[in-house]
Amino acid sequence: MSAYTVTPSRCHIDLAALRRNFSRLGDPASIMPVIKSDAYGHGLLPVARALDQAGARRFAVGTVSEGAALREAGLGQGIVPLLGAVSPEDWQAAVALDLTPLLADFEDIEKAAACCPADRPLRVAVKCETGMSRLGFSAEDLPALLESLRRFPRITPVLALSHLSCADMPEEDAYTQAQIEHFAAMCAVLREAFPGIARSLGNSPAALGLPATRYEACRPGLALYGGNSFANTAREALGADLEWVMSVSAPVLRVRRLRAGQSVSYGRSFTAPRDTTVAVVAAGYATGFARGLSNRIDLLINGRRVPQVGRVCMGMVMADVSALPDVRTGDTAWILGGPAAPGQRPVTAQEMADELGTIPYEILCLMGSTNPRVYL
Ligand SMILES: *Cc1c(COP(=O)(O)O)cnc(C)c1O
Repeated sequence: MSAYTVTPSRCHIDLAALRRNFSRLGDPASIMPVIKSDAYGHGLLPVARALDQAGARRFAVGTVSEGAALREAGLGQGIVPLLGAVSPEDWQAAVALDLTPLLADFEDIEKAAACCPADRPLRVAVKCETGMSRLGFSAEDLPALLESLRRFPRITPVLALSHLSCADMPEEDAYTQAQIEHFAAMCAVLREAFPGIARSLGNSPAALGLPATRYEACRPGLALYGGNSFANTAREALGADLEWVMSVSAPVLRVRRLRAGQSVSYGRSFTAPRDTTVAVVAAGYATGFARGLSNRIDLLINGRRVPQVGRVCMGMVMADVSALPDVRTGDTAWILGGPAAPGQRPVTAQEMADELGTIPYEILCLMGSTNPRVYL
């Protein structure tokens, strides 16, 4: 592996906060934490190990490759790759490593049968389509599915799962209820053939607000990392005690005095209206600080919020620190989180997402994958 880093910024991951969020979500035994996409940018293995210590009995990953990494790290839980086994090599690996691959369409049954071990059952998860129109069997497919499975008695469904489309949107409660009923009906059919099959429907908003969807394996992702699915809705209080796990810092490279009328950065999008002190900070769009945030977000420096000014560059952003008494080269600027002075709030992934018209998931994935991570 090459040893260079492209940025002096750092992504700080607070694994104790992760464990606290996990325990806030209820009985660990009924939670299958979602740690796909490198645990939403927080790092697959450190997150999985912390949740293993906290009592997680199953994991939902994205790819078979992520599942393989968990096995290599010695984790023995049930592991479901949510994207399914894609290639024949994926199927072989999923079976060899005793992952729980998805059956999401009829072709998957043939693929599973082709690599099913002779001496033990192949545990699989049946993906049910209830309203996402993405992966999975519809209710009408179930008789044919059960019929095909009778031909392959070693293929053993141990989990039925489906995904809610809008459980975070109170105005879509009717759609969510319909999905819940749809899933219950499909599970009833599956359970006649496979009485032991566990059910998995709820995501983060459901873990916070819909106890009926917990079943045996609730699948929160965002809430583990501190995001409140109900932010900006009437149900915001349901997730108010979650703590952000990720924070992002970057050093101040230089502090510069500007005279009134001097402009900052590419395109002159900020011109100092008066004499201004600007800090140049080592973060930029290459490290997840979206260029669309130019002149629209704060940074936290020495505990206080200061406005970002001028275009966000690839590896640098500027902040107006005129209001701070003495900022120096080498001081720490916080892009997300960080220690706030009394009366000051850190910038959150939610705030950034709101400003950009996106969701905090995207901010976390980007920040976590572009900044070197350190673990607390
Ligand atoms: C990502 C994902 C989840 C977790 O969703 P959150 O909103 O982060 O809780 C659950 N199930 C499936 C199938 C997913 O893809």
